[in-house]
Amino acid sequence: SPAMARQERWFRDSVAAMDATPSRRRRTPGRPAVDDRFANTPDSDPALSETRRWALAAVAARPGEPRTPLASTADIDAVVATARDAAPGWAGRTPCARAAILREGARQMEARRGDLVTAMAAEGGKTIAQSDPEVSEAIDFARFYADAAEDLGPGHAMTDGARFEPAAVTLVTPPWNFPVAIPLGGVLAALASGSCVIIKPAQAVPRCTEIGVEALWAAGVPREVLHVVRTDEHGVGQHLVAHPGVDAVVLTGAVETAELFASWRTGRSSGPRVHAETSGKNALVITPAADIDLAVVDLVASAFGHAGQKCSAASLGILVGSVGRSRRFRRQLVDAVRSLRVGWPEDPGATMGPVIEPPEGKLLRALTTLDGEERWLVEPHQLDGSGRLWSPGLKEGVAPGSFFHHTEVFGPVLGLMHASTLDEAITWQNATRFGLTGGLHSLDPDDIRTWTSRVEVGNAYINRGTTGAMVRRQPFGGWKDSSVGPGAKAGGPNYVASLGGWAPDGLPR
Ligand code: GLU
Repeated sequence: SPAMARQERWFRDSVAAMDATPSRRRRTPGRPAVDDRFANTPDSDPALSETRRWALAAVAARPGEPRTPLASTADIDAVVATARDAAPGWAGRTPCARAAILREGARQMEARRGDLVTAMAAEGGKTIAQSDPEVSEAIDFARFYADAAEDLGPGHAMTDGARFEPAAVTLVTPPWNFPVAIPLGGVLAALASGSCVIIKPAQAVPRCTEIGVEALWAAGVPREVLHVVRTDEHGVGQHLVAHPGVDAVVLTGAVETAELFASWRTGRSSGPRVHAETSGKNALVITPAADIDLAVVDLVASAFGHAGQKCSAASLGILVGSVGRSRRFRRQLVDAVRSLRVGWPEDPGATMGPVIEPPEGKLLRALTTLDGEERWLVEPHQLDGSGRLWSPGLKEGVAPGSFFHHTEVFGPVLGLMHASTLDEAITWQNATRFGLTGGLHSLDPDDIRTWTSRVEVGNAYINRGTTGAMVRRQPFGGWKDSSVGPGAKAGGPNYVASLGGWAPDGLPR
């Protein structure tokens, strides 16, 4: 695919660039070429040298081509039929039996941690510092949803004369930005509920998802219960999403995709559902009562982690009153943004990786143009010929109602807004159609009370960044246009049950 070809190209180019770096070491004739890539590691720092050696070797090993061929519409019909045939058997196992398999899945994923991290770095450009905790999140999902399966009760749960009925077949369509935690989270929740699952990996990152699925097969999830299907985005993809044999679709992606999927699934007699976590335009509000050191660290991590390519990323910093005029705040923030080291994931010193593809559309506009009174505090630059490495951008003067105030750009740009009061800041924070994450930095209990009572987001964080929700502790999901469907939160108490339905007890299945 073009994405794979691009990956190959950047990998070759970056290796060539490293090979071209003058070596401080004397070359040993006949030494294998791969060793040259370690040549610019300072000899005086053996720890860095070891990490770098490991990271380079891991990414150089490459995850390889996806093992699943692109499906035709006939392949999809066959997969859906197999999954439907397997559905009564999987639903008929006790929740405890399914939970035991999921817990073994956690162990199998741990065993494949290195492969998963490597695949995320190589396919998705994710730094190792970001990829590694993502594996932990997938493992957390396995254990958490195993517990949730058991909460459904022995056999099928009965509450007030109703019986839990899993969907026969659930389709999971994840995004590329969290290519392990999001697909596997959806798969594990649906499996826990007793549903068979078809997972359609995002096109840019298929191997990440396949490795996770291999771990679940190894844990004892039957092959006929869990299927990987790769398709194009339209045509065959549409055939799958709209398929009458698919009962529920779990989507994480742009709100436009959720709307498209919903339109493909209208007119279905059996009440088909889409569970979608969609876009966000998230802000972190900082008041004069904030711990400025913490606020700067959290704002930068939330804006530029994975190069800003998270639904949860803080794209706006809304500075209240004197914070916006504070020279100390401004200097610290600018220094922190400048200190980010941009690089490819095989560089363990890189604190920000590439964007998934050369920016276009909204992101290109955000990186290259200023509107109204906006001005750059740190101007972003394209760093190499790949088009994917960009230094981070920080701008101030974002006006209420402007393009940058309302538009999710999904990349390494942070905009600052200056509000006179906390009330004004909250009004601006709530003014977008989305409501995924939001943050407040303030040590003043009145600020915290005011903000929590008014902010319209699914995940509201106090004195913390806006990214990195933890399974169980911070169930993840949005409000307003950041969510489509029943709105239960991933990693939260109702999620597994929300994927099925309740039938009056006593009726035959
Ligand atoms: N769950 C992730 C977080 O809390 C975000 C997932 C997403 O980008 O969709 O940062």
